[in-house]
Amino acid sequence: MIDHDGGGDVAARWARVRGRLRSECGETVYRSWLRSLTLVRCDGSTVVLSVPSRFVRDRVMTQYGDRLRALWAIEDPAVQSVEVTVAQSAAVEVPAGRAMASATAGAGETSDQLEPLELSTPAVFRSNDPTDALSAPLDPRFTFANFVVGKPNELAFAAARRVADSETVPFNPLFLYGGVGLGKTHLMHAIAWNLREKHPQRRMLYMSAEKFMYQFIRALRFKDTVAFKDLFRSVDVLMIDDVQFISGKDSTQEEFFHTFNALVDRNRQVIISADKSPNDLDGLEERLRSRLGWGLVADIHPTTYELRLGILQSKAERLEVSIPSKVLEFLAHKITSNVRELEGALNRIVAHTTLVGRPITIESTQEGLHDLLKSHDRRVTIEEIQRKVASHFNLRITDMHSARRSRSIARPRQIAMYLAKQLTHRSLPEIGRKFGGRDHTTVMHAVKKVDELRAADRHFDEDVDMLRRMLES
Ligand code: ADP
Ligand code: MG
Repeated sequence: MIDHDGGGDVAARWARVRGRLRSECGETVYRSWLRSLTLVRCDGSTVVLSVPSRFVRDRVMTQYGDRLRALWAIEDPAVQSVEVTVAQSAAVEVPAGRAMASATAGAGETSDQLEPLELSTPAVFRSNDPTDALSAPLDPRFTFANFVVGKPNELAFAAARRVADSETVPFNPLFLYGGVGLGKTHLMHAIAWNLREKHPQRRMLYMSAEKFMYQFIRALRFKDTVAFKDLFRSVDVLMIDDVQFISGKDSTQEEFFHTFNALVDRNRQVIISADKSPNDLDGLEERLRSRLGWGLVADIHPTTYELRLGILQSKAERLEVSIPSKVLEFLAHKITSNVRELEGALNRIVAHTTLVGRPITIESTQEGLHDLLKSHDRRVTIEEIQRKVASHFNLRITDMHSARRSRSIARPRQIAMYLAKQLTHRSLPEIGRKFGGRDHTTVMHAVKKVDELRAADRHFDEDVDMLRRMLES
């Protein structure tokens, strides 16, 4: 190893940088991406590290490059750049010194289970403010400008904008909720970007509820809860993503409740996201549930065709590829689950065509997304289920909706409800409605009954299974 001021020093610095990275990123990320980093040399302004593969190098550079540079600069202001090279057996591992041991105190072996961090967001760090280091990285793509507004998300968008633009605290908390992949995290990051730009002096903390729990448990384990409380209570804006994660986790919930109250009492903005409304979040204490609903609760509905098409058009523009509108319409029509899948599909056909070098057509899209479209196509409707089941049992389709309760009709109807639950994404109340406006408890009962009968009666079981397979094929 070559360096400008003695190997021992550089090794100790590197150990500290690693230690900081490790405690900032958590064990899971550290083990997946950062552990294999090896110091090759430091020649004044440039630090050279190596990793075993290009894949790891690309990941490390895009996700943690900025942070590595910043941490080195703290250790040694002369360092201006950090390079990561790929080497099979080039460098010798720097032994972890005492400095490392103290810097990583807290990253215990068990934290693996505690913190499966999201790996997909590029790291962006700004300053040495402790809340900044703790805050999860913001995705540069998640801005208001990149958010396409439509009926399903207009309320959430307007509320997020208001919070981001307002000089005061317009509603506290702002509670955003909606299904997976519909833009909750995107809106929170957009608020954060906006605030950073307009009010860089405001202390802002954005993290997932999971990370909050991890930090809290760590603080408990290392008897550091005073610092933990001080830090969380000192921010001007607190954003906690996916708060459903802490339901059922009693002590974390309790701590969150107190943090939340302390901030709201001091008129600091709190922004929360969850997959359900406060009322529908199971496993939350009543007092927390009710406080979460005190401010503005804004939901994001499933996408409509128009919104999907709008998002595809805006994405395609940004990717600077020309995609025939027929293809975009086709995708908007076929991929209805959520925006994340929609984006994934678009990226795939773009990648596919760039690789093969042919223009994008409906045919090439169908071909490139073969597996995805198949799984979407296979989604059956409740009407199909009712038709199939009715014909199987020689009933009329109206028997599926009727109020008649004779066993010969009620049983097939229960089977149809059961299959509707298994094969569609409809909720119990929605299924009930499609079966002549029945209550969701009736559907629940049907599902339970059919489950019981399947377990008890082999013929019945085979019958239901055959129906299921016919509907799925
Ligand atoms: P959630 O947090 O609700 O699960 P995300 O915010 O992670 O969803 O969104 C999933 C993906 O879809 C992201 O890449 C996001 O940029 C994109 N997305 C969601 N809604 C929109 C929208 N209205 N306009 C543009 N992109 C969107
Ligand atoms: Mg999210």
